[in-house]
Formats: sequence, structure tokens, C-alpha cells
Amino acid sequence: MPSRTLYGIPVSAGVAIGKAYCLNRNHFSGMARQTLGEEDVPREMERLGHAFEAALQDLERILSLVPEDLKEHAAIIESHLMMLRDHKFRKRALDHIENTRINAEWALERAVGDLQEVFAAIADEYLRQRMQDVRLVAERVLGKLVGGEGGLNAITHRAILLAHDLSPADTIELDVNKIMAFATAQGGKTSHAGILARSLQIPAVVGVEGLGDDLAEGNIIILDGFHGRIILDPDEDELARYTDLQAQFESYQATIMRSCQLPAETIDGYRMQVLANIELFEEVVAVNDNGGEGIGLYRSEYSYMSHGGMPTEDELTEIYMDMASLVAPKKLVIRTLDVGADKLMRMQVPSEPNPALGLRAIRYCLKHRDVFRTQLRAILKASVLGNVSIMFPMISGLQELVEVKKFYREVQREMHAEGICFREDMPMGIMIEVPSAVITADFLAREVDFFSIGTNDLIQYSLGIDRTNKDVSYLYQPLHPAIVRSIKWVVDSAHRAGIEVCLCGELAADPFCIPVLMGMQVDSISLGPHAIPGIKRIVRQASMEECSALLKQVMTSQSVARNNKLVREMIFRRFPEELMFYSSLVDE
Ligand code: PEP
Ligand code: MG
Repeated sequence: MPSRTLYGIPVSAGVAIGKAYCLNRNHFSGMARQTLGEEDVPREMERLGHAFEAALQDLERILSLVPEDLKEHAAIIESHLMMLRDHKFRKRALDHIENTRINAEWALERAVGDLQEVFAAIADEYLRQRMQDVRLVAERVLGKLVGGEGGLNAITHRAILLAHDLSPADTIELDVNKIMAFATAQGGKTSHAGILARSLQIPAVVGVEGLGDDLAEGNIIILDGFHGRIILDPDEDELARYTDLQAQFESYQATIMRSCQLPAETIDGYRMQVLANIELFEEVVAVNDNGGEGIGLYRSEYSYMSHGGMPTEDELTEIYMDMASLVAPKKLVIRTLDVGADKLMRMQVPSEPNPALGLRAIRYCLKHRDVFRTQLRAILKASVLGNVSIMFPMISGLQELVEVKKFYREVQREMHAEGICFREDMPMGIMIEVPSAVITADFLAREVDFFSIGTNDLIQYSLGIDRTNKDVSYLYQPLHPAIVRSIKWVVDSAHRAGIEVCLCGELAADPFCIPVLMGMQVDSISLGPHAIPGIKRIVRQASMEECSALLKQVMTSQSVARNNKLVREMIFRRFPEELMFYSSLVDE
């Protein structure tokens, strides 16, 4: 049989070659519909009731296994438990058995279908996400009905896991001794599964098109976590090529890990600070292990998104204080809440036609002052420990910044009056991620202690491409002259005002962009913890002289193609190994 390749989003680097294991879920479509005799109805209802109870017990057990520091997962598992305990959902399925005399599996599918219809009619993003939860819960019950086989516990040998989706409960149960990699049909870069794969350091691909149930279980497949590929029925050449790549990657990783605790200093003495972006508390360990010199971006919204309601001041204070103490004496930059658009809180129901251009980030906080106040107070309380900075996202101009600062001072005055201690001179910065902030960077720089350039959004807003839309992702070009010029102008404006500038978008983890950023003399970069060793290695082997020369050429170039060519030539000449593992530009 010729090999076949499926494509998805690479979320965790590496290669795995092994037997496929299809997680037995989302199999409703394969379930036979059976009509029951009158006398079988009570037995079938009882069977379904038992399946609900068994699923409930399973989840309770998993919940008890969640370590203290994985609270985000616990909140979602608790919400799944609530659904299992919800008598309306269970009753709906039982009613289908009773009223239409169908088997339990089919009745469960009907109950899910009923809810799906209701949810689809309301058609908003938040409820669609809840529907996904309903489905995951129902699949767990289904697993019990069909005999409990096909779950993660049933895996007896090392395998590459293929699943429709992985719930937070599944990810807690993942045993890395058995699961060497995984791929899911659902999910994006920031899904739980992706976050977990990166922290467990197993290769993973999500959002795989065509990852259906028809895949042959037990067959040898290749999972390529560099490019987001799943190769089914690979031929000998492919197996040999990937086995080779796997070995080279392992030795490359061992090499970069050996020097990751050394400073990121060029051979001619230029020093750049390398910080980490984190979403979850438990990632701090990975930051230290990979040579991160602090946290340049703590995306604080994740403790809101996984919360059933709104986190309280005490809950937030505890998280921030724990983190500040753990990271100290290194720096911890807490970004205030950046919700809206693709980052929705569980209780948030959006009604905006253009969410990315709507009530997002600082705009949401300025509108919901109570929410903002709670977070500001928690950050200020944590500022007495460690080395904490505060950062505001998506500032679009001076007036907005002045408004934010006014409110921030008001909260500080309130706390003073209440006798609560905080660090008065905690550094305060803003993210530069919309074009209006770039253009007015010289004005903004006089008002803050530091800048952090968020290129994920800056590229989205400057090039007019929705960062979540796969169809326009080909336009995502970090070395577009508009982006390079914007970054340069922001860096120069910051330096002229005597403040430091960090770059914390994905661009900071792109080896092809690093020499350009170094040429601009960006003070620090902040990136995913596991990308740090590779980037530090490039910085340590480069010279400021060659980076400045490259930047000069890039600044006069008028096209993305030429810029890509220029950086590719340099990386190819100087760092051929990086080319092998990060070939998104090379594939063009
Ligand atoms: C960015 O926009 O580049 C950024 C770092 O913020 P986020 O990805 O969280 O929007
Ligand atoms: Mg952003």
C-alpha cells in the first residue's frame, strides 16, 4: 500500500515512529441502532445508569490524582463531573430508551444530538466550547457501555496515540512510558493537549485533517512534530529518513541542553536576556531546566479561562505569590487579563461581530473595572515578593494608557488607605501589538518602564490576517518589511527614551528571526521554555557584527522573499542543524 500523509498543526517538536493506537472515542457513528423488546427496556436503562455511575467514579478518581499545582486541569474535570451528575442530561438519554425503545448507546447519542441542536441554534463560541465538553463526557460514558475497552488504560505497549480529542482528564492519565507521541483531530496550538505535550516533551500534532476512525490500528506510522505530519504506511525510504532525523534530533537536543544554562552572549560580547512565556504555574520548572532567565510573559488569563466563574482576589494573590517566590530572584512579568477574541472565559458569552477588533484585553478590563481592580490588587499584593513586573496588553495609544495608569494609581491609593503593602516602584510596561501603538511608540515610551512587542498580534493586525484562520496562515510572514520596520522603530523609540524592550511573540522562538532581532539590539526575548536552549545556542555562536550587517541588508530590502533568502543563507552557512529542524522557511 502506498504511504499517505495527513497534515495538522505541529505543537510539540520531535519524531515518533511506532504503532498507532486509536483511542476508542467519538464512535457514536459506528454504533448499531437496536430496537428493544418491551421487556428489555428496564435492563437497558439500568445499563445506562451504571455506565454514568462508572464514568463518574473514574473521573472522581482522576480528580483525586491531580496534583495541587495543576489546578487549571482540576477545574475542567470538575465541570465534567458536574455534567455527569446533571440529572437532566442523564434523564434525557434514559427517556430515549423508555420512549423509543432503543439501546443505551444510541439513546446516549440522541441525547448528545438534542443538545447539539440547541447549542447550534444559539451559535456562539462559548457555547460551542461547552458542547465539546458534553461530547467528551458522553464519550466517557460510551466507553463504559461498550465495555471500557479502548481507553488510555487499555494501552499495553508503546504506541502513538491517535484521538479525536484529548480532554484534560485524559491528559492527566497520559503515561509517557507508553505514549510516545500523539495526534488529535481537534485542537490548536494553545489547547490543553498541546500545552501538555510540550511540557512532557513528547512530539504532538493537533487539528489533523482526515484523522478519522478508519485508521488502521496497530500499523506502523510516523508522527512528525516538526512539520505537523502523520505518515501512514510509510515506505522504507521514509522510515529510514525519519529514523535518521530522530537520531539527529536527539543528539542535537543533548548538545543544546548542555549549554542552556550559560548566558546568551555573542562571541563579541553582546548580551541578550532570554526569558520564558508561560501559561501555567507548573511550567516554571521547565523554564529553569531549559535555562530561562526569568518569565517575560505570564499569560494570566488561563486561570480565568479554566475557572467556572471569576477567580477571587485571594485565589489570584495566592497564584501570583507562589509564582513570584518560585521564580525569585529572577524576574516575573505578569500580563494583566487578555481575554476576548479567541481567549474566552468559561462564563463569557461573546456577542461581537469582530471579536479580534472588539472588547479584548485592556479594553475588556477598562469596561469591567471590578474584574480589573481584583487582578491589579492581587498583582500589587504579590509585588512584595520576588521580582514582579506588571504589563498591560493591547494598548492602542496614549490616551488609553493614561486611562489605565489613572485607574492603576486609584487602586494603589485604595490599598494604601487599607494599609496593604505593595511595591510602589514595581516596573510597569505595555505590550506593543497594534499598529497604532507602533506608530506612537515614541510617545508611549515616555510613560512606561518597558515595552514588550507581541508579534503574534502585531502581525495579525498589521498584515490584516486572523491569527486563528488556517486559510490565511500562509500570509503570516514575520520578516515582512512592514513587520521588520515596525519592530525596529519600536526598539529605537524605547532606547531613545532610555527604556528596555523585550519581544515575546512566537517570532522570538524562530531561529531565522533571531539574528535580525539581535542586529536591532533587542534587550530581551521571551519564548516557550523548550525553545530556549536552541535559541540560546544561536545567540552564543553568533556575532553582533554579522547580525548588524544582516539587519542592514534586511532594512533596505523591499520584499519578504528577499528577507527570507537573506536570513536563510546566513542560518544555512552558520547553523545548518537548525535548518534541519525548523524548516518552515526552507520548504517554500
Ligand atoms: C502576542 O500577541 O504576540 C503575544 C505574545 O500575546 P498573545 O499571543 O498571548 O496574544
Ligand atoms: Mg497578544
